[in-house]
Amino acid sequence: MTSAHQSEPRLDSGASAKGLTLVKGVPGKFSWGNTKTMNGSCCSLTGSITNLPVRQNLSAAVSAAHEQGWNAAVIVLKVSDLTEINHWHGYETGDQVIETVMERIETCLSEGHFVGRLGGGHFLVFLRTQLHKSAMAEQVEGVISAVSSPMNFGAGALFINCTAGVSLMPDDAAVADQLMRNAELALRSARLGNQAFYSETLHDNLASQAEIRSALVGALAREEFFLVYQPQVCMKTGETFAVEALLRWQSPTLGMVPPDRFIPIAESAGLMPELGDWILTSACCQASQWLQAGKPLRVAVNISAAQLEESGFACRVQDTLAKCGLPASLLEIEVTESMLVGQVQDNQRTLQAIRNTGVKLALDDFGTGYSNLAYLRHFVFDTLKIDRLFTSAVTEERAGDVLVRAIIAMGAELGHEIVAEGVETAEQMQALQKLGCSRMQGYYFSRPVRAEEIQQD
Ligand code: C2E
Ligand code: CA
Ligand code: CA
Repeated sequence: MTSAHQSEPRLDSGASAKGLTLVKGVPGKFSWGNTKTMNGSCCSLTGSITNLPVRQNLSAAVSAAHEQGWNAAVIVLKVSDLTEINHWHGYETGDQVIETVMERIETCLSEGHFVGRLGGGHFLVFLRTQLHKSAMAEQVEGVISAVSSPMNFGAGALFINCTAGVSLMPDDAAVADQLMRNAELALRSARLGNQAFYSETLHDNLASQAEIRSALVGALAREEFFLVYQPQVCMKTGETFAVEALLRWQSPTLGMVPPDRFIPIAESAGLMPELGDWILTSACCQASQWLQAGKPLRVAVNISAAQLEESGFACRVQDTLAKCGLPASLLEIEVTESMLVGQVQDNQRTLQAIRNTGVKLALDDFGTGYSNLAYLRHFVFDTLKIDRLFTSAVTEERAGDVLVRAIIAMGAELGHEIVAEGVETAEQMQALQKLGCSRMQGYYFSRPVRAEEIQQD
């Protein structure tokens, strides 16, 4: 190395020809000014298994940056669809994609960086920088969009997605291992095609998710779940005409965990089909008991996307009704709009099959989410549940009033029953009644309660 380069990182660009497991810019010798020299000869032995060369280079680069008083960023990039590309276009094309990704990352970055592949579609970028967070975000954005632009190797364009997690030195961590782990945590929270920066809140949130996830394993067998029921009231008759079944989890270690906290985790852990079956069976059997006691009450059951997408779900609903001895008309299935995007036709077929047997269908949280009116054309619903955001808006803003009036008019025109959720006050109830809504659910009438309390009504 010449003295002219001594204060600058020297990052060779000549990566070994097919050095896909190795470090770009650090072919075999890593040199940062005259402070660090590292022999990377172990790379080919351990690279693809342990990521060791990338991690060793990261350690060296972090130490060098500390010694020279630089700040730095560690970015972990995930390129999705690589497995698909290997499968459909062959491993050579996959290799070309990897090389192209490395080159594209390189061209986006200024001096003082290196790029390594961690394995699969994961890449690590070390960037010595004095940039502030917003400028860093712009730079990472540039990398994401460069990597994600179509690649052409002769057999048509390949499209890949790139997502990034970023950890900053010294703000987030001072040592290489922690910086890398932080960047990976941030990556997990980033939406596809976007970036996320590490933060302590993110760390705490993910740690608590991991805790919930492990406490959920076996919770069903340990009988930690139970259902509560919230009445839906008809204002014309003053009677409870239906109840919504809502899941509760009393964990011995975590206490009561709210469903909107643990259900998404149960879904991503693949526990929901089994738990969902238990919910459906318990709710149907409970409704059947009410029926036998001379109190026919429709029970509304929330289902999750994983259940709807499982093959044979419509048949399972039928089997459950038969097993519990509940007429189909006393069951309502609640779905949300977000569950209808994606596999529209399959879901439409499943929901139609369920409805054909006499089970009712409700569209939950209506007015939030995509609010794509096309769903009302594609899917046939019996009930629209107006989300509680709108319910609270009827007495608070004029626009809320106008929107609820429009939803009610549209629902009536399409023959839907309208249920307003989250009614908490007499004022809300009166305002909704004036707008023509006669079916309501909310704390004003009753909180969700145990089945025994419903029977005492
Ligand atoms: P959701 O289906 O919209 O359920 C209504 C939520 O609003 C319930 O919260 C209920 O307790 C709450 N709520 C009812 N009335 C009022 C009110 O007047 N004011 C306010 N602020 N809230 C009210 P919960 O039980 O915590 O459930 C939250 C969400 O968790 C549910 O929203 C649903 O998306 C999901 N969930 C609950 N149970 C199940 C289940 O058995 N299966 C599935 N897949 N999801 C469930
Ligand atoms: Ca619901
Ligand atoms: Ca709802």
